[in-house]
Amino acid sequence: MKVASLYIMKLGGSVITAKEENEFKVKEETVARIAAEIKKAMDEKGFSLILVHGAGPFGHTNVIEYDINDGIFTDRHKEGLEKTIKDCNFLDSVVVGKMKEAGIGAIGFDPNKLVVQEEGKIVEFDTVEIERALGQDKVPVLYGQMVPDRKLNASVMSGDAAIAFLAKKFGAERVLLGTDVAGIYTADPKSNSDVERIELIDKGNFDELLEKVGEASTVDVTQGMRGKLLKLKEQLQGIDAFIFDANQEGSVYKALVGEKVEGTEIRL
Ligand code: ADP
Repeated sequence: MKVASLYIMKLGGSVITAKEENEFKVKEETVARIAAEIKKAMDEKGFSLILVHGAGPFGHTNVIEYDINDGIFTDRHKEGLEKTIKDCNFLDSVVVGKMKEAGIGAIGFDPNKLVVQEEGKIVEFDTVEIERALGQDKVPVLYGQMVPDRKLNASVMSGDAAIAFLAKKFGAERVLLGTDVAGIYTADPKSNSDVERIELIDKGNFDELLEKVGEASTVDVTQGMRGKLLKLKEQLQGIDAFIFDANQEGSVYKALVGEKVEGTEIRL
C-alpha cells in the first residue's frame, strides 16, 4: 500500500541520547525542540510521517556489555536481552511522550512485537497497525530494538533497517536521516578537521569513494568512512535518503518542508 506524501524520518541515537558520553541518558530538551519543529512542519505542509529513532547506549552499550550481538544462548544473554528491550522501550516512551507534549499524535510501536528476523535480517514485519495509525493521521514511532530471530533467538534490528523496510512497504516520498553531523564526509568530521562533505553518493561514485577511503592515510579514517558507506548501502537497500544534522536548530523543520539544509543525498 502506498501512503500519499509519506515521509520517514530518523532521529539517530547520536541526536536523542548521550551517545558520545556513553551514558544512559535521553537528551530531553533536544527531543522537545525537534518535536516542536516536526509539529510546525506538519501543520504547515500536511504530510504523513513515520518516525524512527536509534537506541544509542540503551541499545549498543547493553549489546556489548552482555555480548548479545551473535545470538541469545545463555542465561546471561537472556538477562541482557531483557534489559536491552526494557531500556529501548524506556527511551521510546520518553520520545513518544515529548512528541505528544508538542501536540503530535505519536504512537509507539515496539518492533519486538512486530518483527521477526533471520540471522539479523528482517523476514517478517507486521505493519497492519502501523497502516491503521497512518490512516488515522497518527505518527507511528518505531525504534532500534532487539527482536525475535529464527536462528539466533533474538537479534538487533537497527533503526536504519526498519526505515528501508517501511519506505519500500509504504512507498515513502522522502527518507530523512537526522544524525549529529551534516552528512557523510571524506573522513569522520569529529576526529578530522580537514574534511569535505560529499554532497551526493550514488552508484556512479560509490566504488570510487570506497577506493579513495582505501587510500586514506590512517586506519581510523578508513574505518569511519568505509564502514559508514558499506553500512548505509546494506541497510538502506536501495532506498534514497538524505542525511543531515538534526542537532542544528531548525534543520528538522527545514528538511521536512523542503527548505535547503546542508547534508548528503544518498541514491544507492
Ligand atoms: P546515529 O546514532 O545518528 O545513527 P551513527 O553513530 O551511526 O549515528 O553515525 C554518526 C557518526 O558517524 C558521526 O557522529 C560521526 O562521528 C561518524 N562518522 C564516521 N565516519 C564518518 C564520515 N565519513 N562522515 C560522517 N560521519 C562519520
